[in-house]
Amino acid sequence: MQRRFIPVLVLFVALLMLLAGLGARITAVPVLSFAAEKEIYLTFDDGPSTSVTERILDILKEENVKATFFVVGDRVKGRERTLRRIADEGHTLGVHSETHVYSEIYASADALLRDAETCAETIRRVTGITPRVYRFPGGGKHPASAELLRKNGYRIVSWNAVCGDEELRGATADVLFSTAVETAKGKDPVILLCHDSATHSETAKALPAIIAHFRAEGYTFSAF
Ligand SMILES: [Zn+2]
Repeated sequence: MQRRFIPVLVLFVALLMLLAGLGARITAVPVLSFAAEKEIYLTFDDGPSTSVTERILDILKEENVKATFFVVGDRVKGRERTLRRIADEGHTLGVHSETHVYSEIYASADALLRDAETCAETIRRVTGITPRVYRFPGGGKHPASAELLRKNGYRIVSWNAVCGDEELRGATADVLFSTAVETAKGKDPVILLCHDSATHSETAKALPAIIAHFRAEGYTFSAF
């Protein structure tokens, strides 16, 4: 009896170990996927510009990262190739404004919608893409305009972190990097506000370190 019992016992123990192993693997999966769920959206406003936007696109391509560009329509003329490159390389084009002149845009909800639609038409004419995301120039909530934009099919995108390239004029790439890290702390998803107009070469310079930092922190990069 006892001799026959031993192989059964061995088998039972082996089965228990296998189940324990499976259990460990099963519990490990949610932990891993939870870590991978942290998300960051890199967003660039006020472009396109020739030098800065192109440099940012080079870096994003090198790093295999997709981003969102909120475009100013009247800055597209002469930079059509750059706008098309944004689209061709898989980034999202969003509407920021046709003119970026606050007194015109914020004159009324209708004026804002007209401005947005003109910018959308510029993007459509040059790239064939109909943009579906919108960011208010200067930020803010603007409830009446927001409602009108949503009715016209736009998703409004704000931000919850900044690299400081507008707030801290003349800041170096190092300062922009640490501002991005500091303002994004504890946030998930992070929606990081940056600018790619011609005066923001330090932003392009800070970008590789920003990408490396968030990648090391377990964030994945998404576009709207
Ligand atoms: Zn802007």
